[in-house]
Amino acid sequence: MTIKTKKSSGVAIMGGTFDPIHNGHLRVAVEILDRFNFKAMKLIPCFQPVHKGLPSVTAQQRLEMAKMAISSDVRLAVDSREILRAGPSYSIDTLRDIRAEIGPDVPLIMVLGMDSFLSLPTWAEWRKLIEYAHILVVSRPGWEPELISELSAFCENYRAASSHELQCAPSGSVWLEMLPSLEISSSMIRILCNKQESIAYLLPEPVQTYIIENKLYQDIVTL
Ligand code: ATP
Ligand code: MG
Repeated sequence: MTIKTKKSSGVAIMGGTFDPIHNGHLRVAVEILDRFNFKAMKLIPCFQPVHKGLPSVTAQQRLEMAKMAISSDVRLAVDSREILRAGPSYSIDTLRDIRAEIGPDVPLIMVLGMDSFLSLPTWAEWRKLIEYAHILVVSRPGWEPELISELSAFCENYRAASSHELQCAPSGSVWLEMLPSLEISSSMIRILCNKQESIAYLLPEPVQTYIIENKLYQDIVTL
């Protein structure tokens, strides 16, 4: 029997509040790993989001839920550097850090849902992100790729001619990948918990159990 081994290259990362992690995040991660030949996908929970209110539960609880969620796929990892760094979690700091760790030649791919990508011009040093990583934008139900002018000029400049570029060069390209839609969000899960309605099948079972046992999202809800 011959076993096909594809040479994998590139480290993909997906940042987020993960308040809590859900199947929308997880399907994006595995779909991207299956479609592109990246070595791994690191999920990076932020400590303090820069563009939204404080999370509803502690950073440790969000981290714990993310770790529980990935146990069934060895290609997924949770990276706790933003939580250990504390303070506001700027992606540019994280990219610089990872780039220093993996060296100048390995492709680094920052995966963003369309909603996050559309807010890019409000991020710290946003134009510099592309010097450290590729930006892989994934579709998200309810969010159309309507780019405001500075983002559209940025895309014109950096749009990859083929997705292959994300596996060859270390950084510098933007690519939009259409994925099957999962209309799930953390805010939807927080609202359901707050209304004491079921969150089954929206997120992995161990995370569901953790939320119920620890009575998370029942009282104070940040929407
Ligand atoms: P909230 O409702 O609190 O804003 P969220 O569901 O958007 O939470 P985040 O942790 O903010 O989750 O998202 C992290 C990343 O995952 C972002 O880039 C976001 O666009 C992406 N993402 C989250 N859910 C989906 C989904 N269902 N489909 C595609 N991308 C998603
Ligand atoms: Mg969001």
